[in-house]
Amino acid sequence: MATQKVGGEVDAQCTRCKLTLAHTILAMVGPKIARVRCNTCGGDHVYRAAPGVTDRPSASSSGTARAARAATAAAAKAEKVIISFEEQLSGKDVANAPKYSPKDTYQVDQVIQHPTFGTGFVTAVRGDKVDITFRTDTKTLVHGRGGAPAEKPAFSPPNARSTGPADKPQPAQGSELPAEPVAEGEPPVSTEG
Ligand SMILES: [Zn+2]
Repeated sequence: MATQKVGGEVDAQCTRCKLTLAHTILAMVGPKIARVRCNTCGGDHVYRAAPGVTDRPSASSSGTARAARAATAAAAKAEKVIISFEEQLSGKDVANAPKYSPKDTYQVDQVIQHPTFGTGFVTAVRGDKVDITFRTDTKTLVHGRGGAPAEKPAFSPPNARSTGPADKPQPAQGSELPAEPVAEGEPPVSTEG
């Protein structure tokens, strides 16, 4: 900004001419122009900045701060989504991520490289399907289609858990003891009477 001083010229809005014209600075308050004289009509008046020149520190600064805050918030919001995926990947074994193949068998949290979707990690395993979260989307892919014999015994089949101890002859010592005295409960023999 050019140094403004009393006697110098400045473009300002003339209140009489209703135009942005060259004015001579008559008075200044600190760094700010207070009064000017229109070089065209010769009238003295309070300095009004030319349109397009923002010379209102209170309004412009708060507006700028508001805009900056909004931009920062938007940036933080957008950044958060990206970081969350990266952070989830960062805790996993990305370096040894194998290329996706429907013949391989995957497990939850395993990282894989997909030729189309890029890097992703397994979020769910459902039988012969796996849900894999990629940067842009979550895809359901097949796995375990190669009949890999080495992998199968390593996994305990999930239906073994559902049968539970019900059909197993568990030695339940405590439960049988009270049953016998109740069965022996015969009506008392009354010989008297
Ligand atoms: Zn004027």
